[in-house]
Amino acid sequence: METKDLYQILGVSKGASQEEVRRAYRKLARKYHPDANPGDPKAEERFKEIQHAYEILSNPERRRQYDQGPQTFFGGSQDFGGNRRDFGDFSNLSDLFGNFGDIFGRSTQQRASTSLRGEDVTVSVNLKFSDALKGVTTRVGVPVEEECGQCRGTGAAPGTFPKTCSECGGRGTRSQDQGFFAFSSVCSRCGGTGKVIERPCAGCGGSGRVRRARQVTVRIPAGARDGMKIRVPGRGSVGKQGGPAGDLYVVTRVEEHPVFKRRGDDFVVDVPVSFVEAALGARIEVPRPDGGTVKLRLPAGTQDGKQFRVRGAGAPKPKGGKPGDLIVQVSLVVPDKLTRREREILEALAEERNEDVRAELFRKTRRL
Ligand SMILES: [Zn+2]
Ligand SMILES: [Zn+2]
Repeated sequence: METKDLYQILGVSKGASQEEVRRAYRKLARKYHPDANPGDPKAEERFKEIQHAYEILSNPERRRQYDQGPQTFFGGSQDFGGNRRDFGDFSNLSDLFGNFGDIFGRSTQQRASTSLRGEDVTVSVNLKFSDALKGVTTRVGVPVEEECGQCRGTGAAPGTFPKTCSECGGRGTRSQDQGFFAFSSVCSRCGGTGKVIERPCAGCGGSGRVRRARQVTVRIPAGARDGMKIRVPGRGSVGKQGGPAGDLYVVTRVEEHPVFKRRGDDFVVDVPVSFVEAALGARIEVPRPDGGTVKLRLPAGTQDGKQFRVRGAGAPKPKGGKPGDLIVQVSLVVPDKLTRREREILEALAEERNEDVRAELFRKTRRL
């Protein structure tokens, strides 16, 4: 049975965005499509693998399921063995390249502009409980790729310039005859850039790009949850040769509170209540997540575990709207030490009540 990792098949990391998954798939599917590799069973096998991986990883729900337990998805890979022409949505090359067309050397402009966009960058930020609740403006160090200052992004040593590739004449693609039709492939000498660097820049090793940490100011909305992903458009890596910058994704890591447990936009708090307060009823004061307090009236006869809802005292919704609630859960406290007088009072109470609290329990168990 196939045990290859779907992310490995597409050559992307586990944290890859949907867009990265889609790009990786497009690239590989072009390379291994059976029409581009006639009579090559290995390429066909690979193409099916790629398509299978993409079907799962491009679907957020299936991808989530896969992340939780990959084994359930591999059994199906045999299903692809049947019809040679059964290639799902992309039954021929023109479907696959409908919007791209670059394999035929057309609209390379479009492909170029896609690849010139800077990378998306994901960083996490640790937040104090109170900062996440109130919202905070914070600075995060973002490792980004930028244009190399020494060669201004050309990748060529200062004073030299990249030369037009002799292999492809600067087009970045090479035409090949393959049976019925000619198609283009990416030029192996220049890697599709159309340019060749003879003396690479020492600052960037010829890539024209350098990595550095950039400080970016990010607004964390009030009520931010742990694991929330905040998109900051255009603050990822800088684009290549004037291309658009990628986006920055900030993932929140919110410190856990020892008392307030988050449940959606609500907070749950366990509040100790003495058995006397519970029996007699009481007005008690309860802490709120925002540092304030709220008064609560416990009715006489409140049971252990009973929950009370304080509307609007939970977390603000990060995208606006009604805030969550504070859920107060009663936790009965029984005294573990009694004075002689307290003991007498309780014994008198027991005598007065003369009750059998387990009568109901036995009545039910005997009936069965
Ligand atoms: Zn070339
Ligand atoms: Zn450089």
